[in-house]
Amino acid sequence: MKLSLVVPCYNEAENVKNFHDATVQAFADCGYDYEIVFIDDGSRDATLHNLKKLYREEITNIKIVSFSRNFGKEAGLYAGLEHASGDYISLIDADLQQRPEIVREMVDFLENNKKYDIVAAYQDRRNEGKVLSFFKRCFYGVINKMSDVTLHNAASDFRTFRRSVAESILEMAEYHRFSKGIFAWVGYSTHYIPYNACPRTAGKSKWSFRKLMNYAIDGIIGFSIRPLRLATYLGTLTGISALIYLLVVVLQKLIVGIDLPGYATIIVLILLLGSMQLFCIGIIGEYVGRTFEQSKKRPIYLAKEVLSRDSQ
Ligand code: UDP
Ligand code: MG
Repeated sequence: MKLSLVVPCYNEAENVKNFHDATVQAFADCGYDYEIVFIDDGSRDATLHNLKKLYREEITNIKIVSFSRNFGKEAGLYAGLEHASGDYISLIDADLQQRPEIVREMVDFLENNKKYDIVAAYQDRRNEGKVLSFFKRCFYGVINKMSDVTLHNAASDFRTFRRSVAESILEMAEYHRFSKGIFAWVGYSTHYIPYNACPRTAGKSKWSFRKLMNYAIDGIIGFSIRPLRLATYLGTLTGISALIYLLVVVLQKLIVGIDLPGYATIIVLILLLGSMQLFCIGIIGEYVGRTFEQSKKRPIYLAKEVLSRDSQ
């Protein structure tokens, strides 16, 4: 098998057939074998039903991994990599915002440029609101400063890579997955190409602001322990300020002889230090929580059904 397209689907009933048809059309005369690995991420609509229909029609080589519940896109990608058997593997969304024709170009590029292992697409122009794009820019600024990996600002999960890369990613069996960071961490030489995200063919985006925030925290916490050091810095800073203030108070008493009541100062200091401590405990909690979850060694996903002609 030359190419595997890994396609996570969550409530994409109206899109899977369109995606399948567009892919079959894009690869019509490619001259090599390819398969589509669909992951049904616990969809509550007719996604699985529609996928099974495509499987039975046997127009092209299809695998279906059906999750027991919604585990999230990251888990879907992991399952897809586990079930993909291609020499090249491509991650692509089911909503046709990313065109299968580009995957073909990516494969051709990797064929002709042996020194590259990954082709990643980044969005040329983002079609999103000013507020969201501001937060995204902040996020990349913070994560690139704080973490051990450098993320490309607009790079998406839309990418094609060699089998060796897929195997490296599968070795990273962490529970809280942040694939942009994982890709940066495993390394390999990446070639970036611009692409224009088309509008969704049907359905709506699964990302809410809250989900994006959680994902951003996963990214920062998952790839850096620098936030923990923040507590040390803050502690040092407040300690030094306290010492200076102590000196000022003592000198005022000895030289000028005034005894300040200082009620407001005390309240402000209590609030400030209290909130700083809570903030630091929160950061530590994020790490402890993740250690706890990873120590349980729960599987990243549970598949209730796998349809594949390979295993028959
Ligand atoms: N997706 C998934 N599980 C989820 C959420 C999303 O498998 O819990 C899939 C979804 O079906 C789509 C891809 O991930 O194929 C990208 O999702 P979406 O289009 O909502 O994200 P956006 O394009 O808005 O970033
Ligand atoms: Mg989308």
